[in-house]
Amino acid sequence: MENKEHQLARMLIGNKWTTGNNATTSPVYNPSTGEIIGLTPMGSAEDVNEAVKVAQKAFQTWSEVPSPRRADILFRYRSLLEENMESIASLISKENGKTLDEARGDIRRGFEVVEFACGIAHLMKGESLSQIAPEIDGLTLKEPLGVCAGISPFNFPAMVPMWMFPIAIACGNTFILKPSEKVPFTAIRLAELFLEAGLPEGVFNVVHGGREVVDALCTHPGIAAVSFVGSSPIAKHVYSLATSHGKRVQAGGGAKNVQLVMPDADPDATIRSISGAAFGCAGQRCMAGSLLVGIGEIVGPLKERLVSAMDSLTMGDTSGEDRVDMGPVIDGQSKNRILGVISDSEKMGIKVLRDGRNGLPKEGFFVGPTLLEQVNPEMDLFREELFGPVLSLLSPKNLDEAISWLNRLPFGNGATIYTSNGQAARHFSRKINCGMVGINVGVPAPMALFPFAGWNDSFYGDLHVQGTEGVMFYTRQRVILSRWDNNYQRIQGW
Ligand code: NAD
Repeated sequence: MENKEHQLARMLIGNKWTTGNNATTSPVYNPSTGEIIGLTPMGSAEDVNEAVKVAQKAFQTWSEVPSPRRADILFRYRSLLEENMESIASLISKENGKTLDEARGDIRRGFEVVEFACGIAHLMKGESLSQIAPEIDGLTLKEPLGVCAGISPFNFPAMVPMWMFPIAIACGNTFILKPSEKVPFTAIRLAELFLEAGLPEGVFNVVHGGREVVDALCTHPGIAAVSFVGSSPIAKHVYSLATSHGKRVQAGGGAKNVQLVMPDADPDATIRSISGAAFGCAGQRCMAGSLLVGIGEIVGPLKERLVSAMDSLTMGDTSGEDRVDMGPVIDGQSKNRILGVISDSEKMGIKVLRDGRNGLPKEGFFVGPTLLEQVNPEMDLFREELFGPVLSLLSPKNLDEAISWLNRLPFGNGATIYTSNGQAARHFSRKINCGMVGINVGVPAPMALFPFAGWNDSFYGDLHVQGTEGVMFYTRQRVILSRWDNNYQRIQGW
């Protein structure tokens, strides 16, 4: 039950903390207990308008601040994030349900983007070529775009926003973040610490809300670029709406990631890695392994050992005293949806080798680790993202059949092969139709130095988040040709 005592998430517009212009709110749960712990004010187009105004004003000065001085603030921000790591991890654990270790990982991956952005003076250097024509030198400059917006999902409350705003701001842009309404408090803490690091008023703003705010960000003439991460249908919506309003867009979508095991894979390391990839963060990573592919004689031992590893995972309240391996999914709706898919699959004749419907804690939004067998590429279960701790096992004849099945998937985020054969690994990594490949690495999520390179329905746009693609996304190039000597003579024949 919502009540007036619940903490209301605040928005940051300029240096003003506000609850916005709209009276409606959305509940924030502790997924471990099912209790409401706060309320998110569902902002309006008017809130977006106010944020754009202050961000446009701030851009005039911020874009002129020398890049090494912008980096000074990022260095201080990095230190503050490190000092506050534990308290932010508890916050993430409370509003998202991750274990503390997973929450620390969430911050660490974002933190690395801040570290990357500290090198912005080098990253923004252009190119030059002397004597591109008689007495003419050519030079490119990377310049910021203006006000940029970021829209993020619930599953990585720290990392995903930090894929976006540290690079955008380091490049000299100003930024409006619309975090997921399910996890607003982590975003607020990230903003508070950035202000504490010395970020000037209006450079970073936070507006909470749902579709009204998202659509206002995608259509506002004062916004130059939109970064989105979330499910594919919303990614597609944001991509088409914002590009049709003349904006640059990078939009990460959903996924169906593969864990493929060859008969020669190292057994212990492979089981540990699959278990982490499929059940870590309760299967709510966009790189979570959700299709398990066994080739040849490995299938029998793989099932047996995996079920035993799943049985040993402890599940429970991640905000409590005891250490657990696995937390809940985000809300009651997700829980019911995932349990419903397991039941429907069983009715269709799919074998439930390990049943995550059993032995669940009474409170909270828990789904146990689940393994389904006899899945094939014709099934919805093969194609559709579940976003929970459910692995579906397929057994194709050989590696080539596996690749041909997997290349029918609409998504293209991650695929891992476990093998000790370099030729098989190379063949798989060149032929699989997706952007991030793991070779004996269960979650091949690139770190800040590389792009987060989803393909197909896992990404709409061309420049991905992170790495030098991130810098390219948040800057535009100016080319300057200069000639200072008009009395030049052409070199004969040239
Ligand atoms: P979601 O698509 O429901 O929400 C993402 C954002 O869009 C939120 O801020 C939400 O408020 C907003 N939103 C929701 N419905 C909307 C609508 N109708 N119109 C406009 N905006 C709307 O995603 P989620 O459930 O928060 O997150 C899980 C999804 O994110 C999964 O599909 C996962 O695979 C994906 N994800 C992808 C990546 C990636 O890099 N590709 C990374 C993390 C998560």
